[in-house]
Amino acid sequence: MPELVLYNTLGRAQSPFRPMVPGEVKVYTCGPTVYNDVHIGNLRTFLFEDVLRRSLEYLGYRVTQVMNLTDVDDKTIRGANEKGVPLDVYTAPYIASFFRDLETLHVLPAEVYPRATEHIPEMIAMIARLVETGHAYEADGSVFFRIATDPDYGRLSGFGHGQEARRGERVASDEYDKEDVRDFVLWKGAKPGEPQWDSPWGPGRPGWHIECSAMSAKYLGATFDIHCGGVDNIFPHHENEIAQSECATGEPFVHTWLHSEHLLVDGAKMSKSLGNQYTLPELLARGVPARALRYLFLSVHYRQKLNFTFESLDAAAGALKRVDEMRFRLAHALEKPEATSATSAVTEAAERLATDFAAALADDLNLAGALAALFGFVREVNVAIEAGLREGDRARVEAALADVDRVLGVLDPEAWKEKADTAAEDAEIARLVHERDEARRRRDFAASDRLRAELTERGIVLEDTPQGTRWKRK
Ligand SMILES: [Zn+2]
Repeated sequence: MPELVLYNTLGRAQSPFRPMVPGEVKVYTCGPTVYNDVHIGNLRTFLFEDVLRRSLEYLGYRVTQVMNLTDVDDKTIRGANEKGVPLDVYTAPYIASFFRDLETLHVLPAEVYPRATEHIPEMIAMIARLVETGHAYEADGSVFFRIATDPDYGRLSGFGHGQEARRGERVASDEYDKEDVRDFVLWKGAKPGEPQWDSPWGPGRPGWHIECSAMSAKYLGATFDIHCGGVDNIFPHHENEIAQSECATGEPFVHTWLHSEHLLVDGAKMSKSLGNQYTLPELLARGVPARALRYLFLSVHYRQKLNFTFESLDAAAGALKRVDEMRFRLAHALEKPEATSATSAVTEAAERLATDFAAALADDLNLAGALAALFGFVREVNVAIEAGLREGDRARVEAALADVDRVLGVLDPEAWKEKADTAAEDAEIARLVHERDEARRRRDFAASDRLRAELTERGIVLEDTPQGTRWKRK
């Protein structure tokens, strides 16, 4: 296998990847904040991390991947309070929809999905260590990281000492009594109406950044190989993770940092106000094939902005159709049993595919190059079918496709069919249930009865609860 080269955000350069233990890679991926349904911009990052995982495995590494679920923070607490339900009742459906989205897009599961609320003792222990060593201090029942004690602060993002930039800061600076405006919160003293846990500094809850430092240390050790996220995580989140972890453990935190670029919709940044913040169920309800969406995400390099348009989805579906059509012709072509020469055009094409595909992956996960190798192969097989296949060619082609599909995960139409149908149907039902809820809110009982009848006809049972309408199949 070729040597893997990755672009490390830490140092902003490409370098050969060398895991701490030969053949094994430990990866930490920042997961979703489960306060709403994730949008396709979030999904792009998770798809990138899936491709990373699959590429590492293809290149011969064993992967241990951890992805956290942020189930306590300002947004989850606000949402739970607005609905008047406990935090875990509020986050449960978003955790479920997140895993459903990953499954729909054929994302391979991580080994561990730790939840913030289940790791409060680990976070408290790390914060206590930082307080003991002078890297953190208490003020008003909250605890802050003292940036002045970390001379390396800023080496990932470039926003270090003496920099004014504080974009994305999640804590209002006037909210607590901080020594330095840049210091960030590790533990937030309890406020009325918020969930709280006991700590040496009184009741409260963790700040956002500390969970990733505490949970990565627990599952991967103080030092590990790869940490990923979207580019918007670089500052302050990942910068703060490095500061917390290295000051608490005295060890280097992560060797290689990988970040995927933003997704744009029709050339614009996604936003609620533009109405272009699509979720996967919304796209499925519009008839978008999940398989084409996965292909579209694969086809753009992770460090480039990806412009999502419905035309680009059509192009993705068209590309997949070319592979499907080749397979159809292949399935119906005749092999000549008498032609058994050791090398054939198909054998050579399959060898070229394997070499070029692995080389493209090893070149900083150049999936566009890997797909170019695939379509070169498809063209060569089409020519070979015209010229006449030799015995065993059909199996050779299928084996070559199955091999590259370990990374791509899009080539087998059968694998997508059943799941995609169910996902599209679920999305349609969720839409009807939502419409009925809206009709009831407007007191439009004619419309709500009509929608209920339609759902009943589809075999759906509705249950009205204080938290909204639940549905299940009969
Ligand atoms: Zn994180």
